[in-house]
Amino acid sequence: MALVEIKSLHKSFGSNHVLRGIDFTVEQGEVVCVIGPSGSGKSTLLRCVNLLETPQEGQVIVRGEDITHPDCHLDEARQQIGMVFQQFNLFPHLSALANCTVAQRTVLKRPAEEADRVARANLERVGLSDKIEAYPAQLSGGQQQRVAIARALSMDPALMLFDEPTSALDPELVGDVLTVMRKLALDGMTMLVVTHEMAFAREVADRVVFMDGGVIVEQGPPAEVIGNPKEERTRTFLRRVL
Ligand code: ADP
Ligand code: MG
Repeated sequence: MALVEIKSLHKSFGSNHVLRGIDFTVEQGEVVCVIGPSGSGKSTLLRCVNLLETPQEGQVIVRGEDITHPDCHLDEARQQIGMVFQQFNLFPHLSALANCTVAQRTVLKRPAEEADRVARANLERVGLSDKIEAYPAQLSGGQQQRVAIARALSMDPALMLFDEPTSALDPELVGDVLTVMRKLALDGMTMLVVTHEMAFAREVADRVVFMDGGVIVEQGPPAEVIGNPKEERTRTFLRRVL
């Protein structure tokens, strides 16, 4: 069984038909990178996967459960999915450690001691053992994004969604975040990553999905989709970004 199965997904905002029938799966342990021009619906797709947006049509099936079904326990379904945004979205009034413990305690009802232990382990995993007590404003963008990754990991998600996690970073800070993501992929984390980092997609992705105009134009191994694209729209996009 696929970890995530997306079936004929449609999403409109008013008369703007953004997702026009998206079908794809993410297998357990797979890293899927989604590429495509701005406005093609990549963020909307990711937001539909954890139901930050409600699709008008189609299904999102996580571990066999249709999370778009009205009877689905949305909170339980969402707990399985971690999300990392372009703009970190840390709580500014909380330390790195507290950012990583708050949802563990309130949502998962973990005892303080356990939440603390899990948070420290994940901050160590992203290379921030020395920044545990720091507040977001005291951290670089790259460090803040790594706290955001540690915070998502602290919820023990089955799937991690990344929406252009390095796009808001100064160029010299991108590498540290990509290194953390590469390590997660090697650890076997299932990841769905929207990115413009073609070198990362080529190296780390098991599969690359190229979206344009709300549909998947082409998908396959990175060597094919990035290295030797079949579709003219993919070639045009890659000429612009490579
Ligand atoms: P991408 O991430 O590929 O750049 P998005 O999914 O952000 O694309 O946006 C796709 C289209 O959906 C755009 O036309 C955008 O204006 C529209 N859109 C996205 N989110 C909303 C929203 N919350 N309300 C209205 N329109 C939206
Ligand atoms: Mg986007």
